[in-house]
Amino acid sequence: MEPVVLRVRHECLRDIFCFSLPALCPACHRPLAGGRPHRAPVSVPDPLGDGHGTSCRFLVAWTGRDSDGVAELHAGISDTSGVVYNYTERGVLRERRGWERCLSFPLLRPDAFHLLAQWDGYLERFSRGPSWDPTRRSFCDDSHNCLTFCVAFVNGVLAAEGGHGDVVVHAGDLTRVTAPAVRRAREYAALRRHLRRHPFYVAPSASPPPS
Ligand SMILES: [Zn+2]
Repeated sequence: MEPVVLRVRHECLRDIFCFSLPALCPACHRPLAGGRPHRAPVSVPDPLGDGHGTSCRFLVAWTGRDSDGVAELHAGISDTSGVVYNYTERGVLRERRGWERCLSFPLLRPDAFHLLAQWDGYLERFSRGPSWDPTRRSFCDDSHNCLTFCVAFVNGVLAAEGGHGDVVVHAGDLTRVTAPAVRRAREYAALRRHLRRHPFYVAPSASPPPS
């Protein structure tokens, strides 16, 4: 397991990212430790988590399960026990592994108990529909893909529930809400790559990590 990324804002107002704190600030060469308490290092959380530990979420992973930014994105939806339903050329896969590193977005309000009880049934019935049967309709990268499946499922749930307010992310919002998270995950991956080769990364205040 890789070490945690630390960020400390030094009194010179530069942000230092590192796995372990150097004694001196690499920007101004004054001591890093022993500064004001509000400038103590904080850990930078990994934006990717285990999709199989989620319930009723929209998931986005990198194919090849790598977030290095070169791989393609793949989307799926988790059932209440963390099985990830995702549409591919082979039809809808129901995966219990392989989504250990992904972004996840809740689709339901936490107190949506009625819908929670229906979720797995909805997801299974929807996945058996003719649209996702590879013998009847082919996967198409541009127009009939993993995201089409997720959007159509969310629309289907909304229709079945009469546009119920228990669904927190509507289908049209899926791309809009995920795009900034995907960008942050790519920046985080770039930062980690940098820190594997260099002891630290110095950013000007409030500037993004290297790409
Ligand atoms: Zn400094």
